[in-house]
Amino acid sequence: MSEKNVVPVTVLSKTTWTPNLFSFTVTRPDSFKFTAGQFVRLGVNPSKLKYHQQQNSTTDKALDEDIFRAYSIVSSPFDEELEFFSIVIADGAFTSQLQHLQVGDELMLNTIPFGFLTLARYQQPLPKDLWLLATGTGLAPFLSMLQDLQTWEDYEHIILAYSARSQEELAYVEQIEQLQENFGSLVDNPAKLIFIPIVTREPMAGALTERLPKLLVDGSLQQKAGVPLDPESAHVMLCGNPEMVEDTKETLKTMGFVMNRRGEGNIAVENYW
Ligand code: NAP
Repeated sequence: MSEKNVVPVTVLSKTTWTPNLFSFTVTRPDSFKFTAGQFVRLGVNPSKLKYHQQQNSTTDKALDEDIFRAYSIVSSPFDEELEFFSIVIADGAFTSQLQHLQVGDELMLNTIPFGFLTLARYQQPLPKDLWLLATGTGLAPFLSMLQDLQTWEDYEHIILAYSARSQEELAYVEQIEQLQENFGSLVDNPAKLIFIPIVTREPMAGALTERLPKLLVDGSLQQKAGVPLDPESAHVMLCGNPEMVEDTKETLKTMGFVMNRRGEGNIAVENYW
């Protein structure tokens, strides 16, 4: 059955971070609205990709089907283009095709956004601090939130901890530093965004090396941030590897945090797959 609410979008750029990680931008339909942190369903018909046209494989019937997957949006709700951050899963029907994207290729966008990893879910009064904890491509929704001035105005400190296996896989570091500079100066506080890189499978200068739950329990994440992590003063959002989300959520509960439901509670989570 074909999807409803689908419009074509055109690939405008592609950034390759590693052989298995890339980002791309597409045109944004005028009518498409979303909130920072939300997902959309993106579709590809492999037989229509330039790559397969160049390979003369477009007559392969198996390639002529629409495949859709959920993707969280990296760009801000104010951007004219839509950006996505993707991993290549070797045997994954969708990403093994998407890795061949070229500028000018056409994708399909389902224009109904979804997902509740948004700051609007929290009720006033807001606490002082916002902790954003991500692994891998789970960074995407936080990048979107961090491009919204409201996020910077609402919290005293924003702590972004981002964990990847290797330094090479720690994508978007320069963009995060740009956000620190640009939005930091807009709110007159260059130190508002505290970025904590975590690289777990090789040494990296300035980065922490353990998994998030351990860093929380032994206090090294809080120490690196220079900010205490307290249920009275913090919202915590988790996004990425489902096991990280589960383990970190359970760790936070032992520290007095509770899941956010109907606006009450400090933890909000999204599994990235
Ligand atoms: P990943 O295995 O999710 O690792 C990224 C970071 O998360 C690493 O620093 C890793 O630490 C950490 N991590 C993993 N499990 C954790 C846990 N339970 N608690 C705390 N931290 C944890 O790597 P990835 O490259 O982003 O994802 C690769 C895997 O995800 C592949 O198996 C891929 O097939 C699968 N996958 C991803 C997606 C997607 O959309 N991103 C979709 C489908 C499948 P360690 O080095 O200690 O493990």
